[in-house]
Amino acid sequence: MDPRRRVPRTDTLLADPRLAGAVRRLGRALVKQAVGEAQERARRGEIRPEQVADAAVAALPEHPAGLRPVVNATGVLLHTNLGRAPLSAAAVAAIAAAAGPTDVEFDLATGARARRGRSALAALAAAVPQAEAVHLVNNNAAALVLVATALAAGREIVLSRGEMVEIGDGFRIPELLRSTGARLREVGTTNRTRLADYADAIGPDTGFVLKVHPSNFRIEGFTGAVDVAELAGIGVPVVVDIGSGLLAPEPLLPGEPDAATTLRAGADLVTASGDKLLGGPQAGLLLGRRDLVERCRRHPLARALRVDKLTLAAVEATLRGPATPTFEALHARPGELLARARAVARTLAAAGIDAHAVPSQATVGGGGAPGVTLPSAAVSLPGHLAAALRTGTPPVVGRLADGRLLLDLRAVPPEQDDLIVAAVAAQARRDGPPVAG
Ligand SMILES: *Cc1c(COP(=O)(O)O)cnc(C)c1O
Repeated sequence: MDPRRRVPRTDTLLADPRLAGAVRRLGRALVKQAVGEAQERARRGEIRPEQVADAAVAALPEHPAGLRPVVNATGVLLHTNLGRAPLSAAAVAAIAAAAGPTDVEFDLATGARARRGRSALAALAAAVPQAEAVHLVNNNAAALVLVATALAAGREIVLSRGEMVEIGDGFRIPELLRSTGARLREVGTTNRTRLADYADAIGPDTGFVLKVHPSNFRIEGFTGAVDVAELAGIGVPVVVDIGSGLLAPEPLLPGEPDAATTLRAGADLVTASGDKLLGGPQAGLLLGRRDLVERCRRHPLARALRVDKLTLAAVEATLRGPATPTFEALHARPGELLARARAVARTLAAAGIDAHAVPSQATVGGGGAPGVTLPSAAVSLPGHLAAALRTGTPPVVGRLADGRLLLDLRAVPPEQDDLIVAAVAAQARRDGPPVAG
């Protein structure tokens, strides 16, 4: 009989307990799709009819969401394309706990409505005592939009030409600010701006002076910018976009601004991202003078930019909980990274794979500290493995250098070393038997 006739029917396959369980976990549509594809493979003769159920089970996704967890072996700590900061286990647990009904806006003691996200806001306020008030929005771009709208719509924002920054993927801060209806008053030049340039531009129409941290580039040579401390007291609010979300100075990144120091220097408002060096979820932080934060918070636009309970839970756990994976990666010791790379390479080499440990250079990434390199260590592999590892399970993303694939371990938590070993070994097995042995 034609084996194509023997391909099991969909109903029969869906009665398989493994697939029936998957329907409860993943939903009917995804399971039917996996079943349909496995039937198709059998009709093409790629698998035998008896293998259809197994093939469908093997092809089922882990979750009904398309996002796949990836091992970040790029050596870029905050890789925007890989979702920036990985959350701590504490933050993940807080998200899971907040997923159902929570007291996000409810006082359990009185049964009355309460301030939304008050404990996350209290954690942020406690982390930066220099701020009179704090607020959270969706991301730093949202924080800037809210500040520009609430404090400068129809008026002017004074900004240095040296700080007209494009953050990435065509996202330009000046365009974002103009979209709010504020006018930009550009002062100074690309390389030098003086206090007098700001002072000359300030008038009755000024909403605020904005300083933007050049978080993804550096200009060198004949340069000059005006410090926050010099601008403080210029007569209008001074708003500083510090970018990376460091709340206090980080000795390893002396060039990176932090919220506490910037406020102490006299900034009236600071904006920052939650998912860069702060190591939390995507969020926008607004910290500073109480009257200005209140104007932002009470503006109608604030409602459109507000964060959900999952973000509030993750921000609070990031602030109150143990050191974040981003902090751990930043502070990993080069000697320990090299020892890990050697151990991974040794295991792979013992399986006949061309692997060895090499010193490497990691970076913070688009999230901050341009020009800073962090000494690191990598497992060097044949370059042709790059695509296979990227499309494997879990995907492992490294970087190519001189025809070799480097898996840099600085952004990889130590507990993922075994995943890397397994992924590379599985790939090498697929490529054929090892040459040696
Ligand atoms: C990253 C960055 C932004 C954008 O932050 P998002 O949280 O991604 O919206 C804005 N300004 C600066 C200086 C940045 O570094």
